[in-house]
Amino acid sequence: MKLLFLGSPGVGKGTYAQVITEALNIPHISTGDLLRNETQKDTGLGKKIEETMNQGGLVSDEILIQLIKTRIKDKDCENGFILDGFPRTKNQAENLEKLTGITHVLNFKANDEVIIERLSGRIVCKKCKTIFHKTGNKPKIENICDKCGSELHQREDDKPDSVKKRLKIYKEKTEPLIAHYDSKGLLVEITINKPISEIRDKVILKIKSYLEGKTDKIGEIK
Ligand SMILES: [Zn+2]
Repeated sequence: MKLLFLGSPGVGKGTYAQVITEALNIPHISTGDLLRNETQKDTGLGKKIEETMNQGGLVSDEILIQLIKTRIKDKDCENGFILDGFPRTKNQAENLEKLTGITHVLNFKANDEVIIERLSGRIVCKKCKTIFHKTGNKPKIENICDKCGSELHQREDDKPDSVKKRLKIYKEKTEPLIAHYDSKGLLVEITINKPISEIRDKVILKIKSYLEGKTDKIGEIK
């Protein structure tokens, strides 16, 4: 079972990947983690990635494909994996197909208001970057990081207007990718507007039954 997870910023894709990776016992391969791991190794490739990321640039498709290629050869990927963070464009999807097939593409969605609420409530530690939330995951002392005692702040791109812009850009950019997987019959849409803590079991059940072929749609999980 080779799954691909798609979803806009703030949709909770990383959390769902964590839940499903445990439920199906297949690894979660996040390209963000792959890149970070590589930079922690003392390799030429790691240094190259670090330089690119420090300059705010994008790591090339060739490097990402190379990292994924190595990772999916690991023994824990025998029964499949969840890929998260790549591909983001149709061109990248075609490059990925030369390396490995994907069996299901899960496109996670939430209403815009829900995403805006989630992201614009986010407050981040200036020093250690721990993420808190104004309503969901409050720090013990207002505006102070539980972990290191530094001040918390709202990132510029988490302000409501920036979030709206980010969502719009995401939609425009991923449309061709979504259409690509839809035309191959691999795509399923999953809308979740509730906190995962309230509907965790339902989410697992619905996704499992879809993957087992018992149903051909998921839609909104309430
Ligand atoms: Zn901190």
